[in-house]
Amino acid sequence: MTMTTTSLAILPERLRANAWGRYYVTAECDACGLCAAYAPANFASTFDRSYYAILHQPEGPQEEKAVRTAMMVCPCRCIHDDGDGDAA
Ligand code: SF4
Repeated sequence: MTMTTTSLAILPERLRANAWGRYYVTAECDACGLCAAYAPANFASTFDRSYYAILHQPEGPQEEKAVRTAMMVCPCRCIHDDGDGDAA
């Protein structure tokens, strides 16, 4: 008898505070604020300051680059791109 296993991808929790769209922050965020330093037009702290989230999806190449940089420097690796090119 052959046993098969099914691995289910465990998706990180997408914070509800994120603006709808391609980029989002998950609950692993430690609220360090680095993302907002790199992309101040796109990230902001949540009301209770326990997380940062995408306040505005990037518009134009400069904001897109800033968000991509924030993804690279985020110490918690909790900024994600769902791969959907529709950032609106
Ligand atoms: S850089 Fe990452 S861990 Fe820091 S506040 Fe932004 S999303 Fe959260």
